Amino acid sequence: MDKILEVSVLNKSYGDFALCDISFYLPEGCITGFVGINGAGKTTTLRSILGLTNKVSGAVNFFGMDMAGNENKIKDRIGIVLGDGCFYEELTLLEMKNVIAPAYKNWCEQDFADYMEQFSLNPRQKINTLSKGMRMKYALALALSHKAELLIMDEPTSGLDPLVRSQLLKILKDYMNRGGRGVFFSTHITSDLEKTADMLIMIDGGQIVFQEEKDQLLDSYRIIKGGTEKLNMDTRGYFLNIEENAFGFMGITNQASHVMEHMQDVLVEKATIEDIMLANVERRKRDAV
Ligand code: ATP
Repeated sequence: MDKILEVSVLNKSYGDFALCDISFYLPEGCITGFVGINGAGKTTTLRSILGLTNKVSGAVNFFGMDMAGNENKIKDRIGIVLGDGCFYEELTLLEMKNVIAPAYKNWCEQDFADYMEQFSLNPRQKINTLSKGMRMKYALALALSHKAELLIMDEPTSGLDPLVRSQLLKILKDYMNRGGRGVFFSTHITSDLEKTADMLIMIDGGQIVFQEEKDQLLDSYRIIKGGTEKLNMDTRGYFLNIEENAFGFMGITNQASHVMEHMQDVLVEKATIEDIMLANVERRKRDAV
């Protein structure tokens, strides 16, 4: 599988916060979710790899080309959706498109018209009258109308209602079905990832915690429930986090085989991406103390 993006030892600091030796890759043909709690460093990472912040060190390689020295060539091949989009609010959707389109060599009017129709957007409407969902769809229509091979989005689903969110996730799947492409999107709404992502990368406190295929990741974690008498110095070590109350304990482990061997009569359940993300955050907090 070809790497559509490879990031190596990326560092960037903002006073109290720093991205620390960030390394990961995006395989072609995958939707990759970038997860982390508020302030984990998702936006800073995306902006850094896209050359939108200064004083970044490390190597960023898109489509086998170094970002340094190939920025224009690379950006022609990427669709980017960041934040609410930097639009001129007084313009209509058509006028704003006319400002943006000339920046792309492969701009396709037909694709743009098709997406506008598919998203039920009126080209004559002014940007400052769009709802949040419409704005996201417009940003997506722009990002998808220049034959981009990689779509990078920062929290595209945040603030959208469930209907618009599920429409957006379907659009991403349709986009991927055309083959030879990749999607990289950050989110803390992990249920969106359960539905769409093939690969997951987690960041916390400016550090990459894991990069793993979603199915493999979900397979390697389990929620364990049982009586607190089963917890001792050794068995506690199998868990990333443990909650205890009068009825017993509940913990998340990525060492299920050890648990099964050493802890009898416990309940074993599957973990969600959210369970896994939060357990890793807690474990890192505890380890930092
Ligand atoms: P969220 O899910 O809340 O959007 P995030 O994972 O995208 O969070 P970032 O926006 O990357 O997190 O922020 C990471 C840290 O960097 C935060 O502590 C934030 O305050 C800090 N930060 C981000 N941008 C700047 C800036 N321009 N100047 C100073 N600090 C910044």
